[in-house]
Amino acid sequence: MAILTKITRNVDTRAWHDTFPVHYSYTPGEAGLKFFTNLKEKGVFTGAKCSCCGKVYVPPRIYCEECFEEITDFIKLPATGSIESFTIVKEDIDGKSLGGRKAVGFIRIDSSSGGFLGNILCKNPDDVKTGMKVKARMKPASKRQGLMNDIEGFELV
Ligand SMILES: [Zn+2]
Repeated sequence: MAILTKITRNVDTRAWHDTFPVHYSYTPGEAGLKFFTNLKEKGVFTGAKCSCCGKVYVPPRIYCEECFEEITDFIKLPATGSIESFTIVKEDIDGKSLGGRKAVGFIRIDSSSGGFLGNILCKNPDDVKTGMKVKARMKPASKRQGLMNDIEGFELV
């Protein structure tokens, strides 16, 4: 089925078995720009702290979802956190074997209400448990690009 194929029966819309060309530009916004700039240049996490209720967002935001106040206070956050949830994977996103197993999880960053998905860097994924403390490992400064991939993963501490 080509992208411009006219569909005349609604049962034909159940699956798409082809490629879909998508070209786009991503704009991270004011808060995202601060986050990615500091990640690239300093290797640190940047959060946004609401001056009204004190909630700390990471990734940062420019408005508080709790009290709708504008947030102008951007703060450096620790590179530490805890494993809130995780799974063990054997294949990449394209279904190709990783040649082994690895743990991937959601890490709640300390002193914040947010966090990130990331690789959990450990020798044996079976040792991973929710609640374990971790520390982010960043790429070397010369290799950082201001992308989430600048975070190599989270090491157990
Ligand atoms: Zn607030």
